[in-house]
Amino acid sequence: MKIKLKNTEMLLLLSIILIERSISDFLMSNSAGDFYAFVLALYFLGVLGVIFSRFLLIVSCISLAGVELFVGIRILLAGEDSLMIGLSVIVLGMCMMYFVLQNLRFDLNKDSRIFLSNSSSEYAVEVIDVYKDYVTEGGVVHALRGITLKVKRGEFIAIMGPSGSGKTTLLNIIGALDRPTKGKVLIDGIDISKLNDDELSYLRNKKIGFVFQTFNLINRTSVLRNIEMPAIVAKVPRKERIKRVKKLIKIMGLDESMLSRRPVQLSGGQQQRVAIARALMNDPTIILADEPTGNLDSKTGHEIMKYLRMLNEKFGKTIIVVTHDRSVAEMANRILHIRDGKIIKEETLRKR
Ligand code: ADP
Ligand code: MG
Repeated sequence: MKIKLKNTEMLLLLSIILIERSISDFLMSNSAGDFYAFVLALYFLGVLGVIFSRFLLIVSCISLAGVELFVGIRILLAGEDSLMIGLSVIVLGMCMMYFVLQNLRFDLNKDSRIFLSNSSSEYAVEVIDVYKDYVTEGGVVHALRGITLKVKRGEFIAIMGPSGSGKTTLLNIIGALDRPTKGKVLIDGIDISKLNDDELSYLRNKKIGFVFQTFNLINRTSVLRNIEMPAIVAKVPRKERIKRVKKLIKIMGLDESMLSRRPVQLSGGQQQRVAIARALMNDPTIILADEPTGNLDSKTGHEIMKYLRMLNEKFGKTIIVVTHDRSVAEMANRILHIRDGKIIKEETLRKR
């Protein structure tokens, strides 16, 4: 449970603690001194929880909620006059329990990876009857018009089609960067339309690596920083990050001396290899590449495709490459041809 609290959660917790403390204070000040000390201790536990971890937060919230319920019941038992106060304290306690349970659910999702790892689907990606409309000033653009495709785990497929046929739109929808107007996308058997924003960004960060035509590296900062970025987002400790970066640049045939340079100081081919290393940083199962060779000469482009093939063959990565270049697409196991937002043809080039 290493996830830091969001600001709103912190505020919520603090107010819960303050409300709890003032109520207990008010209700108990004339009687139970011990009880008051107990509440104060819980208060500090709550503060510690905010500072250190969500786990402590949850423990303290459960305790505080328990206190609420206990106080409420005591007041209720005390006599008829205090019925309303007793009931409202109980309601407050139940609200706190609800908050805690919400957070617990959230934590279970993240930490035991229930929603990501227990999948038994044989497909890494399933796209089911997906439509995408863009509403523009000039009218509605039907970018995708009923796309269905399935990609097995460890498969390497290419999506080919002319400019404007919907390739980027399709890839962005598969990668959960965009939502379909209609239809479903399943990643490892999980319907991503059912995930909330937190779960979606978790999925993108951990399961999917993106590679773009224009590399999309941050030139203000070093190659090292660029590659480790997804792991920073995932809160991987620094030592572990550096270890992974070193391993990845070796896999991608880059030199350690490049780590301190800025991306612009590298050749196009090297920059794209840095971008692929970045995509691999959190060890995703799926790599989505949108015209990864589009800004490279054909020899360098071929080299990049050889790296993607190697990642597929040696590390079992599921790879989807979008391209309009036949020689690039031929590196895949299978080519899907798309035109005007529809798949018009499928070719199997080699069995896996
Ligand atoms: P490709 O990657 O195959 O070149 P795209 O997926 O980028 O094709 O685009 C498919 C169609 O959708 C094109 O007609 C394009 O103009 C349109 N399109 C893409 N993105 C948008 C957008 N954000 N708003 C409006 N129309 C868009
Ligand atoms: Mg495109």
